Amino acid sequence: MAETYYCHPCNLSITLPDELDNGVPAEAVRLSRINRNIDAMFVLRMTFGVRLDDAKFIAKHISKPKFRCANCGKNLLEDGITYCPHCSGLNFNW
Ligand SMILES: [Zn+2]
Ligand SMILES: [Zn+2]
Repeated sequence: MAETYYCHPCNLSITLPDELDNGVPAEAVRLSRINRNIDAMFVLRMTFGVRLDDAKFIAKHISKPKFRCANCGKNLLEDGITYCPHCSGLNFNW
């Protein structure tokens, strides 16, 4: 069952394919963290069949670096898919 996550600051939601809900797209995360979001999006689309707008959303919400909120830059508390305790932004803290 695909899970839907809502990001308050963006006022957008995303439904993740099961593969992403249960596993980590390590290569996409690595690319996103070295400022290669376009390449990260390509990996998400090719490997996980994610649509372009969803791939863009995911890349934007990957914490950079890990445990730093992709929206406000403050510290995240939890590993994995989590919400920032400061701005309530969605983070893929993979
Ligand atoms: Zn957001
Ligand atoms: Zn935040």
